[in-house]
Amino acid sequence: MNDHRLREFIERHSRLFILTGAGCSTESGIPDYRDADGDWKRTAPVMYQAFVGDAAIRRRYWARSLVGWRRLRAARPNDAHRALARLQQQGRVEALVTQNVDRLHQAAGSTEAIDLHGRIDMVRCMSCQRRLAREQLQGDFLRLNPAWAGLDALQAPDGDADLEGLDFSSFQVPPCAHCGGVLKPDVVFFGESVPPDRVRTSMAHLMQADAMLVVGSSLMVYSGYRFAQAAALAGKPIAAVNLGRTRADGLLTLKVTLTCSVALAFLLQPTRGVNRPPAASITAIR
Ligand SMILES: [Zn+2]
Repeated sequence: MNDHRLREFIERHSRLFILTGAGCSTESGIPDYRDADGDWKRTAPVMYQAFVGDAAIRRRYWARSLVGWRRLRAARPNDAHRALARLQQQGRVEALVTQNVDRLHQAAGSTEAIDLHGRIDMVRCMSCQRRLAREQLQGDFLRLNPAWAGLDALQAPDGDADLEGLDFSSFQVPPCAHCGGVLKPDVVFFGESVPPDRVRTSMAHLMQADAMLVVGSSLMVYSGYRFAQAAALAGKPIAAVNLGRTRADGLLTLKVTLTCSVALAFLLQPTRGVNRPPAASITAIR
């Protein structure tokens, strides 16, 4: 059985570098981007250059986000998040790095999770770099755009929502209250680079780990794939839990084709959890 082998893999390696992706949050009601073949399920997400260079694209983005944020902020962790938090509490995790921006690992108790792609609950000014809570901006959007408050739409990934066939030209987007600059969600967009210090910190953890575990990611984006590449180069075994194919399939020691919560369910069974290692083997770089 698949999950028996996953359990053995986790028991064999006491310092796991865990990389999670959208598949970890689908059971919390947040859709993922890609199908089982790793292709886009819907319209490709907004690219960084388009967002930065085109006010009309920003209006469309924020109008969709006005609806999408309502649902995203209501999302709660699922058993996959809880299982990984449990593993971390047992001292088995060198680092938990997530490509998700939903903060559900933190909500499940993984306080040390590294948000590789940032966090959707914060907004950053692209000029003065000041940050504000996304919830605060929601209030501004509703005051400026009362007619949009009642809209509903299908939820899309990362707090987006499918709102098509609407005229976004009247949607008012406030500038930064301090400097008048352009506000952007504090997340790494497609086409944008992950901040180098975040990559360095994560890579340093990977080098301290004795194995890598991928949970719910196709690794189609290089920002995640590079960790699998580096793990393979360093001779570290890699296991992956993912319903579809991953870009790293050729590098894997073990592939588990199950939903994340089912694959990791054994970690939440009190009698079958893995044993706690000696405290001395637990270190943190950050
Ligand atoms: Zn500013």
